[in-house]
Amino acid sequence: MTANEILKKYFGYDNFRTGQAEIINHILEREDCLGIMPTGAGKSICYQIPAMIFDGVTIVISPLISLMKDQVDSLNQVGIPATYINSSLAENEYLQTIQNIYHGMYKIIYVAPERFFSDTFIGMLNFLNVSMVAIDEAHCVSQWGHDFRPSYCEISKVISSLNKRPIIVSFTATATQVVKDDIIKLLDLRNPFVLTTGFDRENLYFSVQTPESKKEFLLNFLEEHKNMSGIIYCSTRKTVDEVYERLCNYGYKVSKYHAGMSEKNRSFSQDDFVYDRTEIMVATNAFGMGIDKSNVRYVIHYNMPSDLESYYQEAGRSGRDGDKAECVLLFSRADIVTNKFLIEHSSENNHTNEYQKLNDIVDYCNTSKCLRSYILEYFGETPNFNNCKFCSNCDSEIEITDITTDSKKILSCIKRMNERFGAGLVADVLKGSKSTKVKSFGFDSLSTYGIMSEYSKDTIRDLISFLVAEGYIKSIGDKYPILTLDVKANNVLFSDTQVVIKKKIERILRPEKNSKDDFESLPFDDKLFEILRELRIEVAKENNVPPFIIFADVSLKQMSTYYPIDMDSMLKISGVGSFKLEKYGDVFIETIRNYVQEHDITKVPVLEKTSINSEVTPKVDTKQVSYELYTKDGKSIKEISEIRGLTERTIEGHLLDCYENGMDIDLVKEVNTKFENDIYNAINMCSSGRLREIKDMLPEEVSYFDIKYYLIKIDRKIDN
Ligand code: ADP
Repeated sequence: MTANEILKKYFGYDNFRTGQAEIINHILEREDCLGIMPTGAGKSICYQIPAMIFDGVTIVISPLISLMKDQVDSLNQVGIPATYINSSLAENEYLQTIQNIYHGMYKIIYVAPERFFSDTFIGMLNFLNVSMVAIDEAHCVSQWGHDFRPSYCEISKVISSLNKRPIIVSFTATATQVVKDDIIKLLDLRNPFVLTTGFDRENLYFSVQTPESKKEFLLNFLEEHKNMSGIIYCSTRKTVDEVYERLCNYGYKVSKYHAGMSEKNRSFSQDDFVYDRTEIMVATNAFGMGIDKSNVRYVIHYNMPSDLESYYQEAGRSGRDGDKAECVLLFSRADIVTNKFLIEHSSENNHTNEYQKLNDIVDYCNTSKCLRSYILEYFGETPNFNNCKFCSNCDSEIEITDITTDSKKILSCIKRMNERFGAGLVADVLKGSKSTKVKSFGFDSLSTYGIMSEYSKDTIRDLISFLVAEGYIKSIGDKYPILTLDVKANNVLFSDTQVVIKKKIERILRPEKNSKDDFESLPFDDKLFEILRELRIEVAKENNVPPFIIFADVSLKQMSTYYPIDMDSMLKISGVGSFKLEKYGDVFIETIRNYVQEHDITKVPVLEKTSINSEVTPKVDTKQVSYELYTKDGKSIKEISEIRGLTERTIEGHLLDCYENGMDIDLVKEVNTKFENDIYNAINMCSSGRLREIKDMLPEEVSYFDIKYYLIKIDRKIDN
C-alpha cells in the first residue's frame, strides 16, 4: 500500500498536512530525520505511516505514559496493530505484551525510555526486525529544552549496541537552534533530513481581553460556548477552587486539577474531562502535560501566565484536531503583581531572564498589533502578514483614540525625572500626588507635576504600559524597573508623530474562520451534532477509550453538514477510514438516517472528495514480493534473500507473516517437523509464552522459525 492509501484507508484523511508528505518521503528513502512541527501539526502520522510500510516493527520512544496509551488506543481503533510497554502495565499484562511482541503481533511498539535500556528489551530488539526507531518529544534529550530527561541521553547508546542500526527519526515542537543541535548530536542522527514547518497554528483564534469583571466575562463566554470542551487556566490553586465552585453553582459540568489535590482525585478529574463526562477543566499549569484530547475548543487563561513560552504551549492544547478553537487571555494589572511575587519566590538566583519574559508577555497583552504575528516574531519567525484577520486585534471593531498629547506629557515627565524612576512614581508625579516620596525628590516643582490629574493613577499606568509595548519607553531592570526613553520617543517629542491607541470594542468572541485543512466553512446542524456527540460518548464507553479517539469533532461536524446515510458517503468524511467505517459506520449512519427522516431533510450538500495535493512516492508491498517469489517463482528463502539483498531472517519473517495473515502458502517444508510434538509440548508448558523460554526447553536444532511456525499454526486452528 502507498502512503496516500494508508492515510485514507486507516486514518480517513484525503490530504497530507504541511510537511507530512515531505518527511514521509525522506523516511521511506531510509534517511534519518528530524521534524520540528508545532503541537497539533500531525507529527505522529509522519512515523506511523512509514512504520506500516516498512518490514518488521517500529519502536517509538515517548516520555509520557498517558500519551502512549492514547496513541496506541487511536492506532488500534483504526486497525493498526500497536502496543506499549511502560511502568503502568501490571506484571501479567507486561508478560502477555512481550509474548505478543515475540509472536510478531505488532507493527508499532511504544516504549518509555527507561524500559528501552533493560537487557531483556535490548535482547528482544535484536531478535525483532526493528526497521525504525522514532523518538517523540526529542527535545527531552537537551538540557536547554524545557523537559530535560537524562534517560533520553542513553537512547543512542542502546541503538548503537544493536546488531543492525535502524533508521532514527525524531520529532519535537521546540525549535531553538541549541535544542536542534543537541538532538542531532545526542541522538546520533546521521546526516539527517531536517524539516521545520512554521509555528503558526492557523486554526487557533488568539484574543486578549481586559474585562472590568473577569467573572462576568467568563460566565458570558461559557454561555456562548455551551457543550464544548474547554480548559480554564488559573495562576493559583485558590483561584482554581473559586472558579470551580462558581461554575458548579451555575450548573456547569466542571472538573478541577491542581497540585494540592490527591493523586487519585487528580486522576479521576482528568479522566472525567478526557472522557467528556465533564466539559470544563479548571486547572493550574500542573494540568495538561501528556493530555492529547483533540477536541478542546477553547483555552482561557483567567490570569496572565509568566511567559509566552508557557502561554503558547498551554493555549496550544486547544484545537489539536485542526478545527477552530479559541485562546483567550484575560489580562489585569493584578496579574503582573502576582507574577512578580512568584518570580521573587522562585528558586532561580538570577531573575533577569524571568523578568524579561514577564515584560514580553505584558507587552503581548498591551499591543495593538496582530497577536499572531507578535507570537511568531517572539519565536523568531518572520510572518508574511501584518494582519491575520483571526485574532482579537485584527478582527475586532477598533476605536481609534489619539493619545499624542498624553504621550508627550508622559515622555517629558520621564525625561525631567532624569530617566531614573519606575512607572509608579512617574504616574504619581503626573497625577500630582502629595506623597512624601514625590516631595522629597522635589518632583512637585516639575512642570509636568499634576498635568494628568484628570486621570486615575491606574489609567496613567496603563498608558505607560502601552508606550512600553509600542517601543516609546524602555523598562529596564528586574524587580523595580526604571523607565527610560526608547528610540521612538524623540519622534513624538520633537516632530509631530501621532500616537494612537486602537481599542478593541469588547464583545463576546465568535470567530468565524475555520481551519483550511479539514473543515470548509459550511454551517453544520447543531442539533444533529449534539446527537452524534452523545452517540460518540456511548460508543466510546463501550470501547473503553476517550470519545475523541472514536471520531474527532471535525468528523462529527462534517457528518452534521453532509448527512452521510450510506457507506460510500460516510467514507468521504474526514477521519473516517475503512476500519472505523466497518466498526462504527452502521450505528452512526443509522442515527443520521433517522434524523434525516424525522426532520424531513431532502437537500444536502455534496461532499466532493478533495484532490490529493501532496504525494508520497509509491512503495511496493515488500512482503508481497517475497511471497510471490516463493509461491509463484518457487524460489527458496536463501535465493530470495540473495535476489532482494535482505537477510534470510527478514524473508522468513515475510513468509511467516503471510502465513499468519491466512494467505495461501505452504511453509511446512521449511520446518523441522521431527520436533513437532516436542515444540507443541514446550509451547504448552511454557507459562510465560516467551519464545526465548520455549526455545530453551528444546534441542539446539529447533529454530525460532520452527517455533513461530507452530505458534501460528495453533492460532490458525483456533481461528478456524
Ligand atoms: P502532534 O503530535 O504534532 O501534536 P498529532 O500527531 O497528535 O499532532 O495530530 C493532531 C491531530 O491531527 C490528530 O487528531 C490527527 O489525527 C490529526 N491529523 C494528522 N494528520 C492529519 C491530516 N493529514 N489530515 C487531517 N488530520 C490530521
